[in-house]
Amino acid sequence: MGSLHNASTEQLQELDALHHLHPFTDTRALNKKGVRVIKRADGVYLWDSNDRKFLDGMAGLWCVNVGYGRKEIMDAAYQQMQQLPYYNSFFQTSHPPAIELSARIAEVTPAKFNRVFFCGSGSEANDTVVRMVRHYWAALGKPDKKVIISRENAYHGSTMAGASLGGMKPMHAQGGLPIADIEHIMQPHWFLHGIDQSPEAFGKQAAMALEQRIQQLGADKVAAFIAEPVQGAGGVIVPPSTYWPEIQRICKAHDILLVADEVICGFGRTARWFGSETYDIDADLMAIAKGLSSGYLPIGGVVVSDRVAEGLEQGGDFNHGYTYSGHPACAAAALANIELMQRERIVENAAEKTAPYFQQKLSELSDHPLVGQIRGVGMLGAIQLCPEKPSNKPFAKSGAVATVCRDHAMHNGLVMRAVDDAMILSPPLVISESEIDELFAIATESIDQTYKDLEDGKIEF
Ligand SMILES: *Cc1c(COP(=O)(O)O)cnc(C)c1O
Repeated sequence: MGSLHNASTEQLQELDALHHLHPFTDTRALNKKGVRVIKRADGVYLWDSNDRKFLDGMAGLWCVNVGYGRKEIMDAAYQQMQQLPYYNSFFQTSHPPAIELSARIAEVTPAKFNRVFFCGSGSEANDTVVRMVRHYWAALGKPDKKVIISRENAYHGSTMAGASLGGMKPMHAQGGLPIADIEHIMQPHWFLHGIDQSPEAFGKQAAMALEQRIQQLGADKVAAFIAEPVQGAGGVIVPPSTYWPEIQRICKAHDILLVADEVICGFGRTARWFGSETYDIDADLMAIAKGLSSGYLPIGGVVVSDRVAEGLEQGGDFNHGYTYSGHPACAAAALANIELMQRERIVENAAEKTAPYFQQKLSELSDHPLVGQIRGVGMLGAIQLCPEKPSNKPFAKSGAVATVCRDHAMHNGLVMRAVDDAMILSPPLVISESEIDELFAIATESIDQTYKDLEDGKIEF
């Protein structure tokens, strides 16, 4: 432990304000308010530096799938560090944890996936995807087949390539993005864009946007389509049932690689091991991170199908890699995490019991006067707040009301995220039924308080 272990909250906040720049944060506003310091965690709970307890409705940042405090993962990392804390996989070398983890990933992914390229995060995984799919087509003699089509409001990470693949306008606005040869089509967000049609008709229409863009660009120029099975950071956007089958058909018809960004959906989030299984997506590559190690140590990867692996083998050297590709301690932690998930049947138990219960409790909120739509699958949920039910009219100031609701939730002891006008939930997969009851009791109370604030004219929106 560092020397600040017993420091006061004020001391910690002051030092943080002086020296620590936070991701996706308005530094001046945060420093005026003072950061919240999280000090420890166990199961689905967090404690801050004032010893206040919170139910973590976001599993950290969508990643702590097995919950906090799992000794098996800590021990695996510690033992690996004593044996071999670091070695690379560049020099025609490997090490047992990376070897064992790659084989284990082949075991838990769908049958056609047997090889993995390791990296340190989801962003690096998607950077690797860009390099890899372009290298794949070049290896097959088609170097001009290099455009990657993604979606508006998608999230694929925050590096130059990750943010370019993503469809978040405020991210593109800072830093001159997207980079060349990345295109975006509409997102399958029925509530925002398709409410005057049936979800099924809208799902097909949203997928057709891919075919239209491929035809505009020419299929011989398009390398791949990338998408999250369920958009996470964009607001838990669960696609209509007609969407993925149509996307699948279009990719096959035009010989476009399909990349599933499984960084959130992978490792049980949708109550199957991969979102691709929940939606019957026959992907060619999958980006993984987050749940791969349940966030205990940073690690990500790109899992490639046999078809892509064979193509890449024709391309000679792949001039790409990271110092920490397959880092031994991170690989050991990920391996222990997967073993734990298998041994305790964490995904299967969620699928049988707790995820359906979570979805039932979530759907009960749809009657609330402030709730316009409920979206969810597995252990993912979105509560769309709306000023004029049953219309899909947004609040004039996007996010203003949801932010108030988030702050009420935090005050009441629940971490629930605000994305535009929606409240987002993604708790650890190991959450129990009584903890789900507690989560929704606090969520409901917080939405009630927000509704009252609106009635009292306390929120500007
Ligand atoms: C979080 C996320 C990423 C980026 O992962 P990092 O580890 O933050 O780089 C990429 N894709 C999706 C779908 C994500 O949710």
